[in-house]
Amino acid sequence: MAIKTIKDVNLAGKRVFVRCDFNVPLTDGMISDDSRIVAALPTIQHLVGQGARVILASHLGRPKGERNAKYSLAPVAEDLATKLGQPVTFIEDCIGAEVEAEVAKMGDGDIVLLENVRFYAGEEKNDSEFAAALAKLADAFVNDAFGTAHRAHASTAGVAAHLSPNVCGFLIEKELAYLGDKTANPERPFTVILGGAKVSDKIKVIDALLEKADTIIIGGAMAYTFALAEGRTVGESLSEPDFIATAKAALQKAQEKGVKFLLPVDNLAVKDLDFGAGTVGEAQFFEGNIPDGWEGVDIGPKSIELFKAEVATAKTVLWNGPMGIFEIDACNQGTFAVAKTIAESEGISIIGGGDSVKAIKMSGYSDKVTFMSTGGGASLEFLEGKDLPGVAALDQI
Ligand code: AMP
Repeated sequence: MAIKTIKDVNLAGKRVFVRCDFNVPLTDGMISDDSRIVAALPTIQHLVGQGARVILASHLGRPKGERNAKYSLAPVAEDLATKLGQPVTFIEDCIGAEVEAEVAKMGDGDIVLLENVRFYAGEEKNDSEFAAALAKLADAFVNDAFGTAHRAHASTAGVAAHLSPNVCGFLIEKELAYLGDKTANPERPFTVILGGAKVSDKIKVIDALLEKADTIIIGGAMAYTFALAEGRTVGESLSEPDFIATAKAALQKAQEKGVKFLLPVDNLAVKDLDFGAGTVGEAQFFEGNIPDGWEGVDIGPKSIELFKAEVATAKTVLWNGPMGIFEIDACNQGTFAVAKTIAESEGISIIGGGDSVKAIKMSGYSDKVTFMSTGGGASLEFLEGKDLPGVAALDQI
């Protein structure tokens, strides 16, 4: 079912409530990564160009329903004004008579940014009164906050009941195209690389992608639960013995569906890992079993070559989750090698949000991938095949 986008409607002269994801990292009140602001610009510029009255809303951090200056969106308004080259009026609240009065002063093509919607508990509760108070400011709704589209909150879903039309912006449109259409009807071969900490967190994604992919590659600590399922030993590595049966079922399903399922053939294992200090003690590569006393922290060179060869033949590659404890320098080679391999691949490369996007950026290859998702949890839930409330609330074509 196709969702209406801002290209399907004319919002000239309308007051438009635009939910963005301006949940940017702040260091001493300064924006340390502006990717989310940059990602929101095309939608804002389109609306301004059309002569809409643009009312921007977002959350920032977890203020838990209370006003907290630390989580103010004021720095975002300043940054937006610079990037857009036009004033962005910051309003120090998001509902109420004063906000309504400010909005009433707007002319066509003007932009305001409301204060953090999570300063009100009603936001995360999707409280109908709070949603109605937000919606009172506007005529139409544009949702472009993919990062929170998996949450049914007042500003991501609740407002839609009061506004019309309800459409998505360019960012959500692009996310749905890459994470949805391009993985549902992929150019084949379609190779998926999944990593990260827990099988229990990713099993639904594995299950859903087993229906679509030609090859699934597993790395990260998740691979150790699969290694246990195959009867190997993993020493002190992070694993989930309670999910061995789940891993076995996934391996079985892969066999039935003819999906190639690749696990690491060698691993870097260490002793005395100190995550806080970012250090490891003795380190060694092991093929197959990891002995007692050793903790697997990354994939080894043979696995890197194996995974590289697979990616080289793929026409579509989707990656989610690091291959090891990439936060520690001594354990980041597998993750960075995969990042480089994917960036250099000829096919369509889709990075499914969260740590993988962080790793791609750290490795310096972000401009070489086809698409990087702006959503962590949202991309995973969407890849699992779940309906995202922030998308379900929008008008269908
Ligand atoms: P996730 O949120 O499931 O994608 O997991 C990401 C986390 O998995 C990162 O913080 C990694 O440090 C962690 N991780 C990846 N590989 C390992 C490993 N071999 N042992 C422990 N943690 C790992």
